[in-house]
Amino acid sequence: MSELSTLPIEPLSATMTSEEVVAATKQFNYGTWRYQKSWNPLHVVDAEGCYFTDAAGRRYLDFSSQLMCVNLGHKNPAVIRAIQEQAATLPYVMPGYATTTRAGLSKLLLEVLPAGLEKFFFTTSGTEANEAAFKIARMYTGKTKIIARYRSYHGSTMASIGATGDPRRWPLEPGAKGQGFLFAPEVNCYKCPIKHTYPGCNTACADYLEHMIENESDVAAVVVEPVVGTNGVLIPPPEYFPRLREICDRRGVLLIADEVMSGWGRTGEWFAVDHWGKDSGGIKPDMLVTAKGITSAYVPLGVCATTAKIAAYFDDHYFAHGHTYEAHPMTLAPAVAAIHEMQRLDLVARSRAMGSYLGEKLHALKARHPSIGEVRGLGLFWAVELVKDHGSKAPLNSMQDKIDGKVAVVEKVAAEMMKRGVTIQAWISHFVIAPPLIIEKEEIDFAVDALDQSLGIADEYV
Ligand code: PLP
Repeated sequence: MSELSTLPIEPLSATMTSEEVVAATKQFNYGTWRYQKSWNPLHVVDAEGCYFTDAAGRRYLDFSSQLMCVNLGHKNPAVIRAIQEQAATLPYVMPGYATTTRAGLSKLLLEVLPAGLEKFFFTTSGTEANEAAFKIARMYTGKTKIIARYRSYHGSTMASIGATGDPRRWPLEPGAKGQGFLFAPEVNCYKCPIKHTYPGCNTACADYLEHMIENESDVAAVVVEPVVGTNGVLIPPPEYFPRLREICDRRGVLLIADEVMSGWGRTGEWFAVDHWGKDSGGIKPDMLVTAKGITSAYVPLGVCATTAKIAAYFDDHYFAHGHTYEAHPMTLAPAVAAIHEMQRLDLVARSRAMGSYLGEKLHALKARHPSIGEVRGLGLFWAVELVKDHGSKAPLNSMQDKIDGKVAVVEKVAAEMMKRGVTIQAWISHFVIAPPLIIEKEEIDFAVDALDQSLGIADEYV
């Protein structure tokens, strides 16, 4: 292997100008979730820590960790080394073989996942991990329907988009929901869709879901993002998950926690469900699905984790699922390194500490900007929701605007922030703020200042 570093590799960067790279990207590739005409991709050439750099040499503070993925920040040396060593040792074998990497990662997962999740199916995306969970739920229970919630995202394949409550599902209807997915109202104490007020509501949202289970029959599972991500960091009240767990148990329905975005220290616990039921031994989902932060997205890895009870069922029943890239060694070795790095750097505790600093700063913004309806968050996972009217809490843009390709006000604010050297996730009428867990206070100050200076654009609409 020693000759590897001397082998010639054609340097792609020398063959195209930046303009040609952008033009070729637009000509030959699809831009996701958008009208193609509106796609003007930034040519990114480098990234380090909390920053990435474009081809013109401009540096951006990454305030949403590239789709809430890069929890360790960019270019973590331990993860890079794990990738290099795995590539040099065993780049691929088919999933039917045992590998040290898969065994090692599985044992490590037992340390960090909520207790009771003991068998793992590895995929190359969060979407596929949800697909696995839905298929396992159907095979295990012999039932078909899966209840998800509005204002949720579970992935992009036909089944997982079918389970997605947000408008990305709409262009695929009616087929998507036709696969047995139903929707309960989202849990949103700021703007409750069933018009209750917490705490007097006694978590009526959980009652609603039970009513659906009771009246539908044939319900295999309920799938929830414990803390909703893209759709606005929606955090259920303390009673919600203990109630939901009890309802699912009593009704014989599986509970799937989709922690693709909310896992890996993002909320100040290893997993978001860890926030609930602490005085009663914690909430134990029957399946937990995760991806993104497990490798900080340096390589594509997803996991569907199940209980031993579910796993045991397949000892004597055919497990009708698999992918060529399942448990791909190149995806597993970096995950081991990434989890070790999270432990070594104590990033879960850091997420809590830096998160409360960030939260204070965001709350202070609310007093200055009439467009801010609510600021909410946990750990280093925050949303700033913009409204045009505080009474009705009407958003600045609608979900339909998204599908119609209108430039939302939050996107205009994000564009302004970019001029100030900060990138932020803007979605419909809110921002999702989720910086790398290694972020420093001065970097938070810089990014919140950029938001502060850019929000005037939105204030004009109030
Ligand atoms: N589930 C949740 C909660 C997500 O946030 C995402 C992606 O953002 C997915 C599933 C889909 O994951 P992927 O994009 O890796 O397929």
